[in-house]
Amino acid sequence: MVQSEFPSYQQEVVELLKQVIEPTLKNDIVSLGMVRNLRIVDDYVYLRLYIGSHQQPLQSEVEAKLSALSWCKKTYIQICTIPGVKITLGISSGKGGVGKSTTAVNIAAALSLQGAKVGLLDADVYGPNVPQMLGLGQADVEVIHTPTGDKFLPLEVQGIKLMSVGLLAEANRPLAWRGPVLHKIITQFINDVEWGELDYLLIDLPPGTGDAQITIIQESPICGVILVTTPQQVAIADVRRNIYMFRQVGVPVLGIVENMSYLSCGDCGSRTYIFGSGGGEQLAAELQTPLLGKIPIDPRICSGGDSGNPIAISESASPASEVFRNIAIAIGLSFAYRTSHNFQFNG
Ligand code: ADP
Repeated sequence: MVQSEFPSYQQEVVELLKQVIEPTLKNDIVSLGMVRNLRIVDDYVYLRLYIGSHQQPLQSEVEAKLSALSWCKKTYIQICTIPGVKITLGISSGKGGVGKSTTAVNIAAALSLQGAKVGLLDADVYGPNVPQMLGLGQADVEVIHTPTGDKFLPLEVQGIKLMSVGLLAEANRPLAWRGPVLHKIITQFINDVEWGELDYLLIDLPPGTGDAQITIIQESPICGVILVTTPQQVAIADVRRNIYMFRQVGVPVLGIVENMSYLSCGDCGSRTYIFGSGGGEQLAAELQTPLLGKIPIDPRICSGGDSGNPIAISESASPASEVFRNIAIAIGLSFAYRTSHNFQFNG
């Protein structure tokens, strides 16, 4: 193939792929970020299709569409999926300590309370504290033999299936994995967990935009990311970088959650905006991403995290729980039911 023909060939492929519509989300697979790593080399098309377990028919649709390419000798489609898992979502943040894991745990709990089968993959290699937030100490991970090789069995706690990098390491030791070893462990971690049937798998991503995060994004069929921030400007600058990274790799950003937004007075209910106000709205408007919710500062969130009682379960009438519930409802509306979409896909 002559090099100058490349852009028009690429364009032709993208146009055909855009005709493949995901039936539940009623949007094309390119806009949904399901097609990544598209390459055309000589007269061959290579692409990676990131799909949930229920979306397998999309592969033959893609093959059928691309068979219309007169110049293409063969299409190579690499499927990226997690067996049994329908929807994989990432929970991310620009930096640590903003409440990313807290948000992941409580959204998982809220989805589970709504009757969904939920798994939580704690992939925060820098601070894997999800087991503690769900009341699990250092537990042994069981390995089972399956026809497709040895697999880790997730633990089950408070209705949520859980696997954490923290469970694979020695207690209180930092996870000092780097480079290729980190890549190998993360890849194994994503591919070798026997989840069974899940409606949702939430992945608690490491903060920032480093190697670990990029590896997880490339190796897992994350179909949307929720970004957690606090109202301060510095945290917001980090989130901006984070969002650009997701957009660059083609993963849709579902929206922003502003955590530690305000403190409510126990007596009169008036709100004090300790870290400033309006940051979340400003960022959402600038980046054209929905603001999914504002979580107040609540000591019960902190104590619940320490004692393994997520507030979404233990204090279901609290304002914070309502925010988590609403986010879970929005996720349900977007992914599970054929009704209106609360999320915009801005990938
Ligand atoms: P990250 O995953 O971003 O590093 P964590 O979820 O571990 O952050 O939260 C950091 C600490 O802040 C934890 O002790 C957690 O309980 C606490 N925390 C998070 N959000 C809130 C909140 N809205 N109100 C009170 N404490 C919170």
